[in-house]
Parts: sequence; structure tokens; C-alpha cells
Amino acid sequence: MSNKLQKWAVLDIETTGLDPDYDELIDIGFLQFEGTRLLKTYSSLVRPSSDIPLPHFIQKLTSITPKMLEGAPQFSVVAPELLELYGSHILAHNSTFEKGFLEPHFKKIDDGTQRESFEDSLFILSLMFPEKSNLGLERFLSDWGVRKKEVHRGLEDSIDLLKVMLIAGELVSLDSEKRQTLISLFLKYEMDNYWPLNFLTITTEERLEIANQINFEFQDGLQKARQFEMGPIEQKEDLIPWIKTEFSGENIKSILREESKIKEALPYYSYRKLQEDLAVRLGQSFKNNIHSIIQAPTGTGKTLGYLLPATLFAISEKEQVLVSTGTKTLQNQILSKDVPDLFKLTGLDREKIKIKKLIGSKNHLCELLFREESNKINLSFEEKITEIYFGMVFFQNSRKLSNEPVTRQEIPYVLKKKLQGFEKREGQIAVDFRSCTGMKCPFKNECSYIEGIRQARDANVIIGNHSLMYSWIKSFPRPGYIIVDEAHKLEKETTEAFSFEAGQSGLETFQKNLKNLSGIGSLFYLLASKEKSVGESTPKINFLREKLTRQADLRLGALNPISGLFEEYFKRMPRYTAIFWNEAPLIKLNEKNDPIVISMAQKIFEVFRILLEVKSILAPYSESFNIYELIEENEIKAITKFNTFMGGLDDLLTAFDYAVNPKEYYTNSMKYHEEFGYLISSSPINVGKMVFEGLLSKSQSVVFTSATLGSFKGNSGPKGIEWALGYTYLTPEKRFKNGLYLDPIYDYEKNAKIFLCDDVPNLYDSNFLPKALNPVFKLIRKLSGRSLLLFSAKERFEAAREMLIKEFEGEIPLFIQGMGSGVVEEFKKSSNGILLGLESFGEGIDIPGDDLVFVFIDKIPDLRMDLVIQDRRDFFERTFGNEFTDYYLAQRANSLHQKLGRLLRTANDRGGAIIVDSRIKTWKGKTLEKFFGLMKPYVLERGSINNACQEISDFIPPTFPKN
Ligand code: SF4
Repeated sequence: MSNKLQKWAVLDIETTGLDPDYDELIDIGFLQFEGTRLLKTYSSLVRPSSDIPLPHFIQKLTSITPKMLEGAPQFSVVAPELLELYGSHILAHNSTFEKGFLEPHFKKIDDGTQRESFEDSLFILSLMFPEKSNLGLERFLSDWGVRKKEVHRGLEDSIDLLKVMLIAGELVSLDSEKRQTLISLFLKYEMDNYWPLNFLTITTEERLEIANQINFEFQDGLQKARQFEMGPIEQKEDLIPWIKTEFSGENIKSILREESKIKEALPYYSYRKLQEDLAVRLGQSFKNNIHSIIQAPTGTGKTLGYLLPATLFAISEKEQVLVSTGTKTLQNQILSKDVPDLFKLTGLDREKIKIKKLIGSKNHLCELLFREESNKINLSFEEKITEIYFGMVFFQNSRKLSNEPVTRQEIPYVLKKKLQGFEKREGQIAVDFRSCTGMKCPFKNECSYIEGIRQARDANVIIGNHSLMYSWIKSFPRPGYIIVDEAHKLEKETTEAFSFEAGQSGLETFQKNLKNLSGIGSLFYLLASKEKSVGESTPKINFLREKLTRQADLRLGALNPISGLFEEYFKRMPRYTAIFWNEAPLIKLNEKNDPIVISMAQKIFEVFRILLEVKSILAPYSESFNIYELIEENEIKAITKFNTFMGGLDDLLTAFDYAVNPKEYYTNSMKYHEEFGYLISSSPINVGKMVFEGLLSKSQSVVFTSATLGSFKGNSGPKGIEWALGYTYLTPEKRFKNGLYLDPIYDYEKNAKIFLCDDVPNLYDSNFLPKALNPVFKLIRKLSGRSLLLFSAKERFEAAREMLIKEFEGEIPLFIQGMGSGVVEEFKKSSNGILLGLESFGEGIDIPGDDLVFVFIDKIPDLRMDLVIQDRRDFFERTFGNEFTDYYLAQRANSLHQKLGRLLRTANDRGGAIIVDSRIKTWKGKTLEKFFGLMKPYVLERGSINNACQEISDFIPPTFPKN
């Protein structure tokens, strides 16, 4: 028996809540080992010592009831069993939680000998599988076929975790290159004593021995996991192209009308006139080089409706087309579903017609920057894990270029939360297109950024996103023909793209880099390597060193008091909040009535001056090196690092320039957050002009599309969206006179009953939820579930969750956001469940049929009241008039449309919705009338919540027959 593993255990606990200072243990389970020998299997419920109520959510999650705990032993009885693990390595998933609850008990018996250590399986799994963006135990369990769902009980979860770790260890040991890379990274960072590494490197026989003792069919489990990891074997279909690739309205129509032919490839296809209208309008836009707006309601078949003409255009006109999406989800959905469907439908050869994904440079990771900084010493444990993780990411990318590379989008959020400094490191090694040397770089062959560009450059159609559209890569021009999908999100994206911010952490990092000459050291290297005679560069280097470090010290004086000034200034504000960002208009130098304001303004100006000076010292050098003349690998690395430093300096300078020298149509503000410190920010007011100048005037044809741009005929509130999309600024010959607002596919008037109820207390009143939900509970009961409830704040969602579990547990299945990644699918399958989540959770939920017939929304969505939004409203009113209807109300109606869009997903669906909002009582009749107009084709009715429930109950028979 090997004793490499020493004394160890796999452990899991359940508690009354998340706070170790307040909550208590209710369940504990562990498997205790010595080497590979199982010593003990332990499981016990634990009776809390105090009167802490057992939350309904915990009961639901764990299936532990107060009754079960009544007869359970108290912790004092369980403690001796647990404390036997003193001195062991305790493996747990997300072990910070277990440590928080258990460590104090081990501390009490600390006798000076080797203490227990809590080992987090989450870290080692992230290093073994850097391509996985979800590190939840349940993800591994279901992906690898160990179990469908996490049980959330101490012993069961411990056993499941051990199974996952055994499989993971074996998968890595079968991949000798990966195993070797991982081990050498651990050695590089002197982590050869890290216990999870010992676990990873045990032999297959030892794994089998452990597996046998927990009755785990190891080979069977391994095979399922390997199958999953290898992915489905792609069946190459022999498609026969049957369409003509000519780009003409007639051809597009004739293809879409071949319903029976298309059905052979896509059985769900049906001809839709509105889809054809969309495709034809897009074709007209591209053909005539004009811009257009198309609203395509749910059910139009929008994506196929634009992909088909866009592809025909790209082929026959030999022009590249860019499809820009608003979310990563849509971008991936187009590539995984709609693009394959297009190839099936047309029979076109996907080897010849290239439709490729492209993401912005800052979403990629730069190996050169990583390697340059990866030899630091005296790193903390968290920093070492971070370095090993990124080392494994680059290893993964070097061998998976043909598949999906790991980009910043795939990095698990949990690592950013758990590892201090992780996010900063990630930012440091993000690609900066200004400094990338491309073909000169020694890492170019493994670089996901370069590979992405290479593929996109040759593509006929590029599937990108809105932010990429504004910060297009420098290697090839942005396509002149663009489809902007989810165009309702463009205002936000445009704001972000043209906003400039500089904050406390960015400035502090810059100051530190300047002081340590980090990045500038690379300039010294270049100067020395290019000197014509020995020592020629020394005086120059000494001069720069002296001058720049003095600037950094000067900056010290300028920077340090700023944070305190911001804090003092904001804490005086009557509406100061300790948990969110506080915002105020940026102070001006001439506001000399307040000493704090004067000091703040002076400090900001001082920082700007110092940044300008640093720039003026370094700029001549950044221009003096020609990348094409540099040959040596070290020179390429040095110029990349120096230019990255200069890029960071430029970003700071721009932000300070906008703050110190206000620009027309920009809102300058300052912000303060107790955790993140201060920030100065400048955001564009006239986003429409930005879209016009940054996009429309530089493109041949841009087609904006979305399911929700304005009211259904575009006759109410289109001015706001036309302005936000830059359409207003176009000359008549560059646009269609009006947007194309396609008729709704579904009969909303007949098939949806939507109520706006104001007979509820204020949102923040403690009676709000009981008053709003109790009548709704009766309705849900009558409907046998089939309901979705969306809440706009976490506190309300959590309180409602407790009420719902108490009310329905054991009667109607509840599916709650946070209970695993498959809740929506499980809700769908149940056919009689209740689905509950925050409003963002509702986005994109697609549940056709009568599994979802009722939606509850806890308020009419608000418009964010940032300073820039307020300025935008004023600007709109001054320039175009009636901002209230065309901008403010239109935006809120649009958000509500998005939420109600979950209700009817097919022509046969029927459903009801209740939106509660006491604020409606104060709305004037005219305002309501306008809002109702904006909400068409929905017909909103006002009434009491009881009446609304009754009407919806009558409207939807308990088992609504499908036609
Ligand atoms: S090619 Fe550019 S982005 Fe890629 S590793 Fe090299 S410098 Fe970084």
C-alpha cells in the first residue's frame, strides 16, 4: 500500500445557511483514508443547538426536514468523529465553505502537532481541465455520467466528489503530455508538496483500489467520462447543393418557398411570408448600399431570414459580411445551430463557404505577455495557482487550435472570486492589439488571437459581436456589409465602446509599474541591444531611469490623498450607499467654494499633467523602433512589453483628458465605491451620432434587427430607437424612409391576457410579497404550476423563494435559479412546475407549448438613472422633443416586452401575465395611454390582483388543449 497520500479524507457538509458566524451544521459526511485504505465512512445529521429556523430553500435543496433533525445528535456528539481528521488532508469541493464551519473546532484541540489542511478540489480540477468554464461539482457529475444531479447531502456528495477526482486523475494520466506539463508547472512554482498533486499522480492500480472500496465501477465510469471528453463523432453528411447561389430577390424567395424540399433537411421548417419579407429587405439593403431597420417578432425565423441572403450576397458579390450579435449566447447559438441548419437547408459545402466566429482582441490571452512575467518569485499560494492555471490554458490552446480555444470568455468566474489577484493578472495578459507584433511573435503559431484573425480573414461571413464592431482588429478591414442583431442592445454597447474611465486600481498599478520601471525596462533592453558602440545607450538609460522614477514618486504625492478626498466628498452626500457605486458630476476647477472640491480638482489635474509628461518623455522612443526591423526574439518580446505599457498609458491619458478638458456631448462624472475606490468617467450623450460616425458612415450597408425595437407597427416611439441606431442622421438616399416593422406572428390580443395591478404595497414594504404573491399562489395552484416568477432584486427573490417552498413543497415541483444548471430543462420536462429566478434569468428562456402559461413580474422595469442617461434624456428633449414617450417610456416598454416574450412561443400558445407595481397609481392617464400604446400588440389591462388572477384562471383551462 502506497502512503503517498498520507492521512486524508473527502468531506462535505450541509448547513442552515452560508454564514459560519451565525449558521450551523445540519449534515456531515466523510470518507477517511490512510494512503489508499478506507478507514471509515461517516455520516450523520446534526441538530442545531440554537433555534435557527431551517430555511425552506435548504430543506428543498438537501431534503432534510426539521423533523429529521429533531432526533439527530447535537454537534457535541458528532465532534469527536470529525476531530479524528485532525492532521489529515481534507478534500472538499469549494473547501472555503467547509473550512469556515469546521476549522474553529480543530483549532480548539490544536496541540502543536501537524494540523488538518483543507484542499480545494475546485482548484486542481481547474488546472486539469482549463477549458471548462463551469467547475461546479454537478457539472462534472452529469457530464461524466456519475449522477444526474448533486444530492446535496454530506456523505453522498463526498462519495461523488471522490469518484470525480478518481476519473479526473485517470483522464490526465492517460494524457501523458498534459500530465507532464501539469507536473512541471507544479515543480516550477515549487508546489511539489501540494497534496492534490499527490492525489493526481497515484497509479491506476491505486485508483482502482480506492474505487473498489466505495463500490465504484471505475472502468465503467472512466469510459463514460472519456466518451464525453472526446465529444460526439461528427457525422459528415453528404449534402447536395440544390439552391442557386445567385443574389437576387427572386432567388431568395424561391428558396424559402421550397417548403417540402427544405423539410427533408429541416423537418421543423415551414414557409413564413414574414421571414421572406425580412430576407428580401435585407437583400435590398445590401444590393443598394443603404441602411435599414427591421423588427422581426418572435417566430419570424429571424436568424435564418438574414443568414440566407447574407451568405448568398457574400458568395455572389464576393463581399465579406459581418453578423454582429449582442450576447455571447446568441453568437454561440448561431454557430452551433443556425449555421449548421443553413448548410443543411442549402446543401452548400461548408468547406468552401466559410462562416467563422470572431471575438475582440481583448477577449484573448497573450502568451508572450504571460511568459515575460511568469518567472516572479515569492508568490503566494493563490498567485501560484493562478500562474499554473494560465500555463495550462496556453498549453491547451497550443494543441486545440482546430477546436475552440480557451479565451477570457471561458475562464470560470469562480476563480476570479476565489483567487486574489487573479482578475488583475488576467487583465495584464489580455491581448492589446496595439502591441501585438503578429507574425514576428514567437508564439504566433499557438496564439488563439492570430488564429481567430486568420480564419476570419478568409471567411465569407463573420459572426462577431457589437463591441468587436467598434474596436475592429487592425489586420484586415471591417466588412462593409453588417447585420446588427439584438440591435436593442446597441445603445449600451455604444456607450461602453466610447466611454473612458480611469480608476484607483489602474492608476496605482501604473504608478507601481513606473516606479519599478516595469515595461520601461524593455525599452532599456532595446536601447542597449541597438547601440552602435559599447556603452552608448547608458547615459540615455540613466537619464530615463532617474526622470521616470521621480515622476512615479511625484505621482505618489499626487495620488495618495485622492482616495481619501473622494471618500470624504461622497460620504457627505445624503444618498450615499456603502454597497453600490456612488456617482456625482465631475467637479470643475472653478468650483472654488469647497476646500475638498478644490483639492480633488487640483489632484486630478496634477495626475493628468504627470501622465502627459511621462508620455512626452517616452513617445519618441515608442516611435523610433520599427517592428519590421527587429529580428531577435528578445527584441520582439521587449517591444511588445514596452508598447503594452504605452497602450496602458494612452488609455489613462485619454480618460484624464476627457475629464480635464470636457468634450461636447459627453457626461463627465466621478464615482466612488467602498470596495473598489474612486473612478472618473466620461460617457457619450449622443450615442446616435456615435453609431452614425463609427459605423453607418463607414459601412456600405448596415441592417439593424431585433424582436423588440419599438411598438409593433413602429408607429409609437420609433424616434428614440432610430436616434440610438444613428438612423436619424442618415440622408434620405442612404436609408429606407421607414423601418420595416413586421407584423406579429402570434395573436397576442387573443392568446395573451396581461394585467397591470397596482393594489400592492410599495416594493420595499415588508407586506409587498405577501400581498402580491398570496393571490398568485391560488392561481398557480389552479393552473397546476406551469408558471414563471421573475424578481428584480436578490432580496425579494430570496424571500419569495422561501414563501414558495413553504407553500408548494411536496405539492408542485419547484425549479429555482441556483439549483443547478439544468433547472430550465427540468422545469420543461416536469410540465407542472414553478420556475423562479431573477429577471436576468428570464432572458432567453424558450418554453413553447403549455408547460408555461403564466408569468409574474414584480415591477415595470426601470431605466437606469446614471448621470449620462439623465443628460441623454435632456439632449433628446432639446433636440428631438418628447423624450418621455420616445425615449424614457419606450425603453421601459421595451424591457417589459423582453420579459413578456417568454409567454407565447408558438402560434398555439396561450398565456397570462401579471405585472405588479404600486407606482402606477401615480401615473397620469395620458402616460398610461402612451405606455399601453408602446406595449402593443399586448393589450394591457388594469385591475386588482384578485381580479387578474380570476380572469387568467378562467382564460387558461387547467389542461389547455393543444390544437
Ligand atoms: S501573436 Fe500577439 S497576441 Fe499572440 S502571443 Fe504573440 S504578441 Fe501575444
